[in-house]
Amino acid sequence: MRHYRTQKIEIKKLDEIICNCCGKKISVINEVPQEDIVEVEKHWGYFSKKDGQKDAFDLCEDCYDRIVSGFSIPVTCDS
Ligand SMILES: [Zn+2]
Repeated sequence: MRHYRTQKIEIKKLDEIICNCCGKKISVINEVPQEDIVEVEKHWGYFSKKDGQKDAFDLCEDCYDRIVSGFSIPVTCDS
């Protein structure tokens, strides 16, 4: 005879993304964002002032457009 214990498993499901720049909420249905976003993850390393620090943020398309429009050198586009 075998006796089993019930084990609860916590499952995290993404249901919303919030633009870190403007606060716009982007809904996620079945794990699919309903608007495309920019996801940035940066693990700082040697020769930075943030060695070992991990940063992450999301941007909506409008904020991405506004930020890159201020670049001295345009973003490389390959379409
Ligand atoms: Zn935004």
